[in-house]
Amino acid sequence: MGKNPKMNFTVQNKLIIAGLIFSTLLIMAIAVFVTFNIQKNLNESYQNFGQVISKTLAIESSDLIKDADKTKTSEILKNHSDLILKAHKDIVFIEFRDIDGNIIYSSQKNNINNSKKLSIVVSSPMINNSDNSGLGSVSLGLSGNLTDKISATTRASILFVFAIVWIVFAFVILINTYLITRELKILHNGVKKITTGEFGYKIKAKDVSEEVMGLFDAFNDMSNKLRIYEMENIEQLTLERNKLKAVLMSIANGVVVCDNNDTVTLLNDHAKELLELQGDQLINTSIKNYVDSDGKFCFSEKIDEYKKLSLEEKTQKPVIFNINLDDKVLKSIISPMFTQNHEYVGYIIVLIDVTRETEMDMMKSQFISNVSHELRTPVTVLRTYIDTLYNYGNDFDYESQKEFIGTINTEIIRLQNMVNDILDFSRLDSNAKIEKSPNDISQLIDYCVKEVEALLNENNLTIKVEKEKNIPLINCNYDAIARALTNYLSNAIKYAPKDSVITVKLYNEPENNQIVVTVRDEGIGIAPEFHKKVFERFYRVENKTHSVKGTGLGLHLVKTTIEKHHGGHVFVNSSPNHGSTFGFTLPTQD
Ligand code: ADP
Repeated sequence: MGKNPKMNFTVQNKLIIAGLIFSTLLIMAIAVFVTFNIQKNLNESYQNFGQVISKTLAIESSDLIKDADKTKTSEILKNHSDLILKAHKDIVFIEFRDIDGNIIYSSQKNNINNSKKLSIVVSSPMINNSDNSGLGSVSLGLSGNLTDKISATTRASILFVFAIVWIVFAFVILINTYLITRELKILHNGVKKITTGEFGYKIKAKDVSEEVMGLFDAFNDMSNKLRIYEMENIEQLTLERNKLKAVLMSIANGVVVCDNNDTVTLLNDHAKELLELQGDQLINTSIKNYVDSDGKFCFSEKIDEYKKLSLEEKTQKPVIFNINLDDKVLKSIISPMFTQNHEYVGYIIVLIDVTRETEMDMMKSQFISNVSHELRTPVTVLRTYIDTLYNYGNDFDYESQKEFIGTINTEIIRLQNMVNDILDFSRLDSNAKIEKSPNDISQLIDYCVKEVEALLNENNLTIKVEKEKNIPLINCNYDAIARALTNYLSNAIKYAPKDSVITVKLYNEPENNQIVVTVRDEGIGIAPEFHKKVFERFYRVENKTHSVKGTGLGLHLVKTTIEKHHGGHVFVNSSPNHGSTFGFTLPTQD
């Protein structure tokens, strides 16, 4: 099919040429045979014609000379033969001989030239019909012009006729071949279109035979069916592809698909987001050229490491490593990619944002170190004070002993708060339901303030309580809400400057069906970006400054108690060095 058909004689062309040569030879052979036969018959007829003339001349001449004087014979024959010679163009000469063979008279055409060659000579005896005695003989020479002319004309006619027959024959063959070839060409063209994927191509042909039309119709039918099949197939494939794309796009992790040469062929939106890419930035480029926020080719080394593994190792234990991008930590997993025929075609990098987990891990280890520290300090203080009182208590006056016991009390309250925090953390974080009953929040505030009073003395702090009257009873767990408020209060005490005032407010918001409790201090305050974070477990702004110790659990417990268990809200209004107001709401209708 790939060869140029003009350059080659196809079997069909060869057959046509052979047919033409054969028919030409056959026609030529028939023409030669017919011409030869006609020529032969003509010659025979001419011979007969000569015979008839010579016989007639012999009879006529015998009649004229049988009774004539011997001296006049020659004269008589002359007159008679000259007339005949003149009348017949084909007779070249006439010769009379006597019985002994001597020429009596001989005449020949005057204007005889070389071209008038002698074709045949015929002789007949002259007989005296009265006694049957011989008088001599007459010979005629015939030029053969007549036969030449007739045979030339015949030959020409035959040649003409056969030439016409040959031309018509050849024409018919060629036209027929052309018609067949034309139809084949149309069909060939159609098949070519189909092979190039132009399904649905229709052959439009006029003036073709019924059989061919049937063939073309079948072709068009097939082409149409192929088109429908292709469309269905494409639809199916598109559907499948879209499904796969949707799956890929909806995967919560980033996915980067690379070929064997490390070229990125596909990546989902999450990968773009995690790697901070714009549009198709990484597509068709090497993943090894990707640089992290420190300008490091963060994938390059690990990909080289991965590529050194055997196929089995690649499959069994994917290469896992973390990369750092600005504030993010991305866990990257490289695993091999195979076709359906288990042919290795590249690898997939799955990117998982583990920033939160990494942070949590750090916070947890920080929490453990903080808890140990927080436990050790009050326990040491307690032991020292109790030891002193136990051994040397009598050496101190009443006031000093009271001061000692006050410090012991403060430390015990701190210790108790912390232990409570840790215990509440595991209790409240679980989904265990807590018991609720209608409680007077105003009374609850007084109770909490009393609880933390011992802590105020250290920095000479004052707590001011402002409560609205007619606060409805709130359906809540008394202890849990008290723990929440105590947390707010002990934080305020922890971060408030010396000699400052801490204000506790309670007011009703009937329009929102809630009551609000706030604790305001004049302490260091919190920058707005941390407002949300301080309520997360283990989160501590102080971790950055290491000034005040704590566990990072308190505010998380307040949030869990208020929001998860009581359907209220926690909030904070604060800015650095302008104090903080922490608050919570509780619904009045449960
Ligand atoms: P802890 O106090 O044990 O660290 P919390 O969950 O009670 O844990 O508080 C979380 C963080 O919120 C604290 O580490 C602190 O940085 C900040 N914070 C809480 N209350 C105040 C406040 N009144 N003033 C300033 N910062 C506060």
